Amino acid sequence: MIKGIKVQLKPNNKQNSKLLQSAGTARWAYNFALAKQEENYTLKDTNTSGGKFISDNDLRKELTILKKTEEFKWLNNYSNNITKQAIKDCCDAYIRFFNKLSDKPKFKSSKKSKPSFYQDAYKIKFTQTHVRLEKIGWVKLTEYNRIPIDTKYYNPRISYDGVHWYISVGIEISQIPIELTNDSIGIDLGVKVLAVCSNKEEPYKNINKTKTVKKLEKKLKRLQRKVSKKYEKNKDGRSYIKTKNIIKLEKNIKKIHKRLDNIRTDNRHKVTTEIVKTKPSRIVMESLNISGMLKNKHLSKAIAECGLYKFKETIKYKAKIYKIEFVEADKWYPSSKTCSECGYVKPKLSLSERTFVCECCKTVIDRDKNASINLSRYVPIVA
Ligand SMILES: [Zn+2]
Repeated sequence: MIKGIKVQLKPNNKQNSKLLQSAGTARWAYNFALAKQEENYTLKDTNTSGGKFISDNDLRKELTILKKTEEFKWLNNYSNNITKQAIKDCCDAYIRFFNKLSDKPKFKSSKKSKPSFYQDAYKIKFTQTHVRLEKIGWVKLTEYNRIPIDTKYYNPRISYDGVHWYISVGIEISQIPIELTNDSIGIDLGVKVLAVCSNKEEPYKNINKTKTVKKLEKKLKRLQRKVSKKYEKNKDGRSYIKTKNIIKLEKNIKKIHKRLDNIRTDNRHKVTTEIVKTKPSRIVMESLNISGMLKNKHLSKAIAECGLYKFKETIKYKAKIYKIEFVEADKWYPSSKTCSECGYVKPKLSLSERTFVCECCKTVIDRDKNASINLSRYVPIVA
């Protein structure tokens, strides 16, 4: 299986500008491909060859000719693979749109799109401390020995989050054979607490409710308000002006976002590792309503739900490494309404009832704990 690794880069000034230019080249090539597709699409009623999808191969050939012209010879300063992949990314996005799998791809603006570009998987080289990027040279890594050397790499990409540059790359890892117990465990996910496991007394707390996170979120809100006020103040007629002060504040905002993201990611990895290290032979989780999640307009709730989704994906992935069976319970499975003691199913259970009280056997148990035990016993329905 393929594991993704992301490591921060430490470029010098010269490399930094080269990285930015490379990302700009990728964006240019993406927009070039998109413009060609769109132009061709509008010809669909007038021309027999119009309207059809242009293959990325044809677009690349067109670019090769352009590179020979005076106007576009600057493209030769950058790795060929950057434009090649950017065109492919655009064509893939266009195919998804044609197949009604996503919205129409949009042009990438220099302000809104995240700077990133591709590196050839065969040409890229790593040492314990550096990575060699095509036409940029050896760039220092902030974490040593994180990326294995002399192995096969998948889809290397360089990206910038507004503060730092990163390299992300996939490497192949083998599954780890460990002796598993016979236990099947159920995990109930929630917003009040993060997770309740059927085999563990204490629930895993929701990291967003800790003092550190709350403090950072407060600080973030304060800065965001400050920035919008500054924008209002420096408004020139109908256009907004980015002052030095605003740029500084926005950089701080990005830093706090990054810190919050790190705290959440660290916690997710810590908890999921702890769970798989109990070596169950099976993990059962409920299915999450993803489409409903994406429509949520409340930011704090959206973050929490996004966290749950990522948590589940991480558990799934780690279970695979240890060859633990991962099961998703059917969304109609009444894990909350069933009494884990006697099997009685309540006709109704409101969300506010945090304690499960069984009318049949008089058992009193925490709602989430009860659900996690039921999940651990889930039997999939085979059609
Ligand atoms: Zn009961």
